[in-house]
Amino acid sequence: MNIRLSKTKYLNGMQCKKLLWHIYNMPDAILAPDASTQAIFDQGHLVGKYAKKLFPEGIEVDHTKSFDEGLKSTIQLLLKRVPVFEGALAYKNCYARADILEPVGKNAWDLIEVKSSTEAKDVNYNDIGFQYHVYTGAGLKIDKCYLMCIDNNYVRNGDIDPNKLLKKIDVTDDVKTFYSKIIEDDVAEMFKSIEAKTYAETGIGKHCNDPYDCPLINKCWSFLPERSVFLLYKNKKLPMALIKDGVLKLAEIPETIVLNEKNQIQVDCEKNGEPHIDPVRINDFLNTIRYPAYYMDFETCGSAIPMFDNTSPYQQMPFQFSVHVVKKQGSKPEHYSFLADGTNDFRPAFMAKLKEVMGTKGSVIAYNAGFEIGILKKCADVLQEYKTWVESIEERIIDLLQPFRNFAYYHPKQNGSCSLKKVLPVLTGKSYDDMEIGDGGTASREYFRVTFTDDNKDRAKIRKLLEEYCGLDTLGMVDIVDQLYLLNKDI
Ligand code: SF4
Repeated sequence: MNIRLSKTKYLNGMQCKKLLWHIYNMPDAILAPDASTQAIFDQGHLVGKYAKKLFPEGIEVDHTKSFDEGLKSTIQLLLKRVPVFEGALAYKNCYARADILEPVGKNAWDLIEVKSSTEAKDVNYNDIGFQYHVYTGAGLKIDKCYLMCIDNNYVRNGDIDPNKLLKKIDVTDDVKTFYSKIIEDDVAEMFKSIEAKTYAETGIGKHCNDPYDCPLINKCWSFLPERSVFLLYKNKKLPMALIKDGVLKLAEIPETIVLNEKNQIQVDCEKNGEPHIDPVRINDFLNTIRYPAYYMDFETCGSAIPMFDNTSPYQQMPFQFSVHVVKKQGSKPEHYSFLADGTNDFRPAFMAKLKEVMGTKGSVIAYNAGFEIGILKKCADVLQEYKTWVESIEERIIDLLQPFRNFAYYHPKQNGSCSLKKVLPVLTGKSYDDMEIGDGGTASREYFRVTFTDDNKDRAKIRKLLEEYCGLDTLGMVDIVDQLYLLNKDI
């Protein structure tokens, strides 16, 4: 087998040798990236475009012809001593394509890796370390190594300023003193793994999601029963220890294992098939509701590249709200909604419409309310005229997540989650399953696509689906509270 190890495959191999073996020997088993992973890749490409603007004399290597042509073109460009984008070199069956190689002094280069993240992570050192290994092995003199990533302190004012959007972190010492030294051995191990007749069984673990979600999870984790110990709420360590001892099912966790209160409730529910109900805590929560009650939910989108003036990278921008107003306990809810239109900053229209429908008294009920309040405060930082009003909303807000996060109510079918998506079906029978847009990530991506890109032929349909989705979030909350009242009455 003529094996060539790229940087991406090297990182795959660092994550798991079994994954690496499959990439070379059973590529059909590898699932294509899902929409949310693809969206992260797209952000990376966009950030890369802004990074290139910092090097106006830079030239990109043409990799469209063949692998060898790409190597040859790189060498020709390096001889010109200009910044080179995607310069590819090979060394001992390894090859790397640096985002940017910048000439320094007479004959050296700085290696710059561009990422859409906001800080350096361990995987970035491996990434740059591998490139350093290849480039220096191929005879290139590397002076400094940099990670160029997003500066989240940047606030847009007019056109995007790449000098302020991006920051350079000098990682030279780490890369030269540690990573480049261990890479030679790592690479030798990886070639052995790839050439082996079959993979060595590594066993599942934290590495399956770290640093990336592995595309073989469905295959490797399939031995677990549906009701596995991994359903334990916010407990990642114990399930690993349990499966090592052969305990796979939630209901089979031995009584000798000391569990925290919530996990114990889960195991008890699993064994008796009944929900756990704590009437005192439910009653305490219900007693905090004041009528008229305003059930409120936002959808947001964000981008590494700030969308409008006075916004920062990755700032979540509210493009949609749904509010259901229940005037008296048990009365029919009235619905109000907003879905931004056009490509200008939608915050002023969002805030104006929301203020119009929220009234001045009564509870404001949100699910995971800290998110909604955080969004409103960020908006009021820029639209100062809403500051006092946002403070008044903060005083009125209550969090419907609270009784579920506290396990005042827990149903085994929540599968160890307190999210609205899990709680709504068990209490009301309603579900997001058949909705074309049925989660916040999809809502955000689809809104962005039909609003800010040319891929928008289905715009009217998507806007309708968005209205249905956000509307279900708040109507669902109304139904959940109604069910809590019923439970309370029945007990
Ligand atoms: S799912 Fe886990 S064990 Fe399986 S290949 Fe991926 S990282 Fe390795």
